[in-house]
Amino acid sequence: MSQDRLQRFTFTGQPVRGAHVRLPESHRAVLACHAYPEALKPLLGEALAAVVLLSATLKFEGKLSLQIQGEGALRLLLVQCNEVQQVRALAQWQDPVTSSDLTQLLTNGQLALTIEPAQGQRYQGIVPLEGPSLAACLEAYFQQSEQLPTRLYLAADGHEAAGMLLQALPAAGPDTEGSFQHLSTLADTLKPEELLNLPAETLLHRLYHQDPLEVYPVTGVSFRCQCSRERCLGALATVDFQELQQMLEHDGEIAMNCEFCNHTYRFGPADIQGLFPDPASPTQH
Ligand SMILES: [Zn+2]
Repeated sequence: MSQDRLQRFTFTGQPVRGAHVRLPESHRAVLACHAYPEALKPLLGEALAAVVLLSATLKFEGKLSLQIQGEGALRLLLVQCNEVQQVRALAQWQDPVTSSDLTQLLTNGQLALTIEPAQGQRYQGIVPLEGPSLAACLEAYFQQSEQLPTRLYLAADGHEAAGMLLQALPAAGPDTEGSFQHLSTLADTLKPEELLNLPAETLLHRLYHQDPLEVYPVTGVSFRCQCSRERCLGALATVDFQELQQMLEHDGEIAMNCEFCNHTYRFGPADIQGLFPDPASPTQH
């Protein structure tokens, strides 16, 4: 198993669940894909940790996306996690990026969470991006759209990325608020370096040795892009045959770049011919 691990837990007798994640390998793999500005690296790591933690609260097959969009040095940040905790990320920015602070990075920002189940309806919730940190913005999101008290602790330094989530269970009883307050007050004492460096077991013991909790089997997390040559060909098959021919004549090939992992797929005349076996009616495909 990779070093990247997700640990879910629930408190015994307190209607609160939690999750802890450390993602050194995935964080580094994401950063290796593009020449990201130094100042953006911690935010990418925090967003990766956040999307994995949020995936731990869902029972679904499909894809969860966390997206930040706005005006300023940071245009777009998108991180995705599927039901087996495979993650990928991308950012679009405009140089120079001089601050890691969300409020400096973009204005008129929006934060969107999208669930795309393998089967069934796509769900998207959007809130204005208000708050000093990604964790604060996500907490506000859960307050507004889910009415679920949620706390997130995120840390990343360009090498390590880690996080912890606490969330009141849906339809919990009258003692929920007290429990949630108690458990999050303890977690508020966490320092970023503890999040980044301590294994889940040590960290949970340090915070909650007086609050019995049940831990679930550890889940591995990995960086894996969902792009493929077949998917690119599928996209090309929706383009007009004549247009593709013109591109081939102009460049000798058609190159498609994946914005997530930066891999380039190249297609020649034979690939394009293969997509349109009957050029008399190419738009039928
Ligand atoms: Zn890719």
